[in-house]
Amino acid sequence: MAIKITEDCINCGACEPECPNGAIYEPGANWQFSYKTELTGMFTAKSGLSADAFTEQPALSADYYYIIADKCTECVGFHDEPQCASVCPVDCCVPDPDHVESKDELAAKKDSLHSK
Ligand code: SF4
Ligand code: SF4
Repeated sequence: MAIKITEDCINCGACEPECPNGAIYEPGANWQFSYKTELTGMFTAKSGLSADAFTEQPALSADYYYIIADKCTECVGFHDEPQCASVCPVDCCVPDPDHVESKDELAAKKDSLHSK
């Protein structure tokens, strides 16, 4: 399943550079499908959201770092464990029960983000 960041986040910024999919953004920052992926042109994500990869999408949080579930693969395809959870000093990167996915589904998501 995707990882989410809880309100315990202290906005230290340690997680963002560790994410191989560009799924993590600082509070108030817009996000993009193209950030840290191979995506160009129109892309339809698992959630059904369809957008140009380079179009900036509105921030999900103005107060805490946040994760885009459509871009989080739980680090499948890159690392053995979620890197954001590994580096977070307050353990606020936790599994998101609203986005439960199998390893195969996460691997397919990784391929969809990084295949040209
Ligand atoms: S689990 Fe991995 S892919 Fe998901 S947000 Fe954290 S670092 Fe990014
Ligand atoms: S590492 Fe943890 S506390 Fe730091 S910004 Fe990321 S989620 Fe927030």
